Amino acid sequence: YCKLKGRHNILFYTEQMDLFYNQIISLEGDLRKALSRNELSLHYQPKVNVATGFISGMEALVRWEHPERGTISPAEFIPVAEETGLISQVDDWVMHEACRQNQQWIDQGYAPERVAVNVSANEIQRNDFAEKVHQVLLATQMEPQYLEIEVTENSVMQNTEECIRTMQDLKAMGVSLAIDDFGTGYSSLSYLRQFPIHFLKIDQDFIKDVLKDPSDAEIVKAMIQLGEAFKLEVIAEGVEREDVLDFLKENDCAYYQGYHFSKPLAPDDMEKLLTRKQTY
Ligand code: C2E
Ligand code: CA
Ligand code: CA
Ligand code: CA
Repeated sequence: YCKLKGRHNILFYTEQMDLFYNQIISLEGDLRKALSRNELSLHYQPKVNVATGFISGMEALVRWEHPERGTISPAEFIPVAEETGLISQVDDWVMHEACRQNQQWIDQGYAPERVAVNVSANEIQRNDFAEKVHQVLLATQMEPQYLEIEVTENSVMQNTEECIRTMQDLKAMGVSLAIDDFGTGYSSLSYLRQFPIHFLKIDQDFIKDVLKDPSDAEIVKAMIQLGEAFKLEVIAEGVEREDVLDFLKENDCAYYQGYHFSKPLAPDDMEKLLTRKQTY
């Protein structure tokens, strides 16, 4: 409960709260409908090899086409979904759709790429999570090596022992794991070493000012070295400019994502970037 200081504060505060909760409640109802009405879709952002410039995978990012409000950003509705428990259905839908689409591309003869899916804290902490992933792979017929799961640093710092077990199960299945938004959380190095992960994704906050802010540059360099020491591949996200890419090249960062190469793309546009498998 908050300390209320005066009439105006009370009014201001409750109005804000009402607005906040009303928005959550109306978004929640709409999101329930969205799930059944197919209003969610996925966009795909290429992951690019820094040294060669070739695509080496993609990240699936959810989009919501609301009938009245237009496109709603995941930054807005994912927190609501997490708050209301709907996240489980959203993340299930995303994983299934990402695997289905990727397997379709593989079946069409494109060179197989890995698709990365974001998973919320609540989901990675479920004890049936690895089994759920297994079921999705069975249902979509996609090989586990073409799936990557992105979890944020903080989401695996709650119930850490269980998360490590789940991650070990996923790794044993052949699924890759990435720590997302690396650097913004509070995991210690000793934990990082225990996580059976393959990729570290440097948060875009560090990347965007890397040429202006010397301390960001030092942090990014340290993270790349950390990746090397732990035998992890490092991905920089939010790369918008050529000179930032040059910085990553000079410092031997393996992969990047960002508007400099491409925004997240609708499936048809992503497909145009995929290359045909050489069959002769
Ligand atoms: P994230 O996983 O860190 O994804 C990166 C975000 O940065 C995406 O925003 C992407 O469009 C944006 N981005 C990529 N390149 C650039 C760039 O060069 N510059 C800038 N300024 N931004 C760039 P988006 O798609 O709006 O997603 C926001 C967040 O929502 C994601 O952050 C992720 O945490 C969450 N999210 C998205 N899709 C899903 C999902 O299917 N499930 C869950 N649980 N969360 C999701
Ligand atoms: Ca991500
Ligand atoms: Ca991220
Ligand atoms: Ca982020």
